[in-house]
Amino acid sequence: MKIQEVKSTAREQRIALHTHIKGLGLLDDGTAQSEADGFVGQETAREACGIIVDLIKAKKMAGRALLLAGGPGTGKTAIALAVAQELGPKVPFCPMVGSEVYSSEVKKTEVLMENFRRAIGLRIKETKEVYEGEVTEMTPEEVENPLGGYGKTLSHVIIGLKTVKGTKQLKLDPSIYESLMKERVTVGDVIYIEANTGAVKRVGRSDAYATEFDLEAEEYVPLPKGEVHKKKEIVQDITLHDLDVANARPQGGQDIMSMMGQLLKPKKTEITDKLRREVNKAVNKYIDQGIAELVPGVLFIDEVHLLDIECFTYLNKALESQFSPIVIFATNRGMGTEDIRAPHGIPVDLLDRILIIRTKPYTPEEIKAIVQIRAKTEGLILANEALEFMAECGAQTSLRYVIQLLTPASILARTNGRENISLDDITQTKTLFYDAKSSAKILAYYESTGQLAAYSET
Ligand code: ATP
Repeated sequence: MKIQEVKSTAREQRIALHTHIKGLGLLDDGTAQSEADGFVGQETAREACGIIVDLIKAKKMAGRALLLAGGPGTGKTAIALAVAQELGPKVPFCPMVGSEVYSSEVKKTEVLMENFRRAIGLRIKETKEVYEGEVTEMTPEEVENPLGGYGKTLSHVIIGLKTVKGTKQLKLDPSIYESLMKERVTVGDVIYIEANTGAVKRVGRSDAYATEFDLEAEEYVPLPKGEVHKKKEIVQDITLHDLDVANARPQGGQDIMSMMGQLLKPKKTEITDKLRREVNKAVNKYIDQGIAELVPGVLFIDEVHLLDIECFTYLNKALESQFSPIVIFATNRGMGTEDIRAPHGIPVDLLDRILIIRTKPYTPEEIKAIVQIRAKTEGLILANEALEFMAECGAQTSLRYVIQLLTPASILARTNGRENISLDDITQTKTLFYDAKSSAKILAYYESTGQLAAYSET
């Protein structure tokens, strides 16, 4: 049996829960509509975030960060995602949880650095010059082998290309022949040839093609200097982390110790500080040349109170760096308790440069509207009584809890041969899965009555 590395999908799953969120749902004057862009309620926080988006766009957020403070399931992640969406299409959004930095294998600051770079995008604009047209003629010019041996060799390839501007003969480098053969290009095909690489692509076939051409063959010209018939702009969005990964080399050399090391663990790629510095240098060069543009995204650190002093020191410094995303922290804690006794568990020097926005608990009406939107996004149909019940239940437990009931309830409905989720499906699912408050209450009861052992048997 082959054991393969399993790629974590936690990050994708965290975003998948919020696919109905399309933006902050603000009007042009910055006021929040009670229901827009998939968002319901939380108007004050959304309006405050709208101002933050303006500050970011005006480049006035450098060195500062945002903290969303509010109870669990009050839409902090959803708001942070909406900020990224408001900044523009394809702006990276990287969500993480404070506890992720504690790993036995990787340094805390390394985890933070990696996520920082996942949240910084690079938009690369490449202009491709291409010849595009219908092939009217294709002749490989063969010459005697110049070394005097047997056989012939290609000196150039002639292609007649009919474009909107007229028919033209191109005399091309022999290396093009292989590409033409690979694409099975024949007369009558519509092709394009990339000027700088010589790559050939068949894009279609013309039925009525002309066999004559009126222009004289040109002298041999290497492709980039030929007449350009069309320019194509190709835009590619990647993150600095993608670049780090792409440039990392497998670890270890040829000595016996590193070979032994590779026997025990899968070949890993190592991203070093030096490599990142080199990637940054190359990125700066591309930016200077106008080929690339930096797209700072959003790094969302939930449960920020779980970070320690070392992490905060690092974050303080990283916020000042040349390449920094917008950092949005979130917490549901008031006063920190463990290592850091400070408001929200964040050291005061960092807190000083943070803007704080509060998120408030939802009303049953708002919960109802959110559950409805979520059900629709997941393609589920809820009976009216089921929806009413979920709204009530959500107000007593949490929004997250009731949303999490949706999928198991839909499975139950399908098992019973129904497409719609009924009240029964929801109540039954609710008896199968406890919400955090009820579960803690039961545990506390058994603890206080000295029957914790009995609890495990119930
Ligand atoms: P928090 O980060 O505060 O714990 P969250 O944004 O992670 O909250 P969840 O508890 O995961 O929210 O919320 C459950 C679901 O409800 C998610 O799908 C989230 O997108 C959605 N949601 C939360 N608040 C709103 C809102 N105001 N409008 C629409 N959907 C919301």
